[in-house]
Amino acid sequence: MNICLLSFDIEDWFQVENLRDVISRTAWDRYELRVVENTQRLLEILERHDTKATFFVLGWIADRVPQLVKEIHRAGHEIASHGYEHELIYKQPPEVFREDIHRSKSLLEDLTGEAVLGYRAPSFSITEYAIDILMEEGFRYDSSLFPSVYHDRYGKILSISQNEAKSVVRLRAGFYEVLISTLSFWGWQAPWGGGGYFRVLPYNIFRWGVDKILRKQGCYLFYLHPWEIDPQQPRIRGIKWNYRLRHYVGLNTAKVKLERLLSDFHFLPIRDGLAKLGCLSLK
Ligand SMILES: [Zn+2]
Repeated sequence: MNICLLSFDIEDWFQVENLRDVISRTAWDRYELRVVENTQRLLEILERHDTKATFFVLGWIADRVPQLVKEIHRAGHEIASHGYEHELIYKQPPEVFREDIHRSKSLLEDLTGEAVLGYRAPSFSITEYAIDILMEEGFRYDSSLFPSVYHDRYGKILSISQNEAKSVVRLRAGFYEVLISTLSFWGWQAPWGGGGYFRVLPYNIFRWGVDKILRKQGCYLFYLHPWEIDPQQPRIRGIKWNYRLRHYVGLNTAKVKLERLLSDFHFLPIRDGLAKLGCLSLK
């Protein structure tokens, strides 16, 4: 039984770490919100492909456009938390992190009337100390670990190797890590979970990798952001060339590639995938 998990991180184009040098958090309110339209485009695509997904919604966004959270939830998707402020976990003291996730979880639960089970760290910055706090705050899984050594910002969990392909790991009794997919090449893990890696690679090569991961692990996890299907977003000058590449590469073709991926594989929300694996029971 192969399980393909689909996830979206709901934040806007100006909130990403790659633009942080030019756009500070205090300036966010000055930029054009494009997340509603872009997320609605994702919802249309998902409806056309009769597919449900997990949406990790940033609290900052939920506060400004609560109707969007309700719309995603009404369409039958899983609402999960992407924290509130989008600050890298290892840059925050534990008590600030606890406050951030508590605030975002209660906000989302008030909007949907349903328990939020999942969390994804900003820029995959998951850190060991966060696991117990997530559990204490009522989360049942984290989906933030990118077990690849290729990126300077990714976080670490001590019990999981940074260079080992895995899909779901039980970290504590009743708490799971759902890893971002990587593809093994001669003992190295290449990021294969979506985002910029999906945008930069030709679709057929990407699909070949997904098949390979499924054959080996039986489980694959994909992620994308609403701004990644928005080639019309404002272009920001003054950022480092590699950050510019990470943010702007392949925006024109991502939507078409996503449609092909959804035609080729049958995806589930993470919650449903964990239930299939016997890690969660859904009421
Ligand atoms: Zn994010």
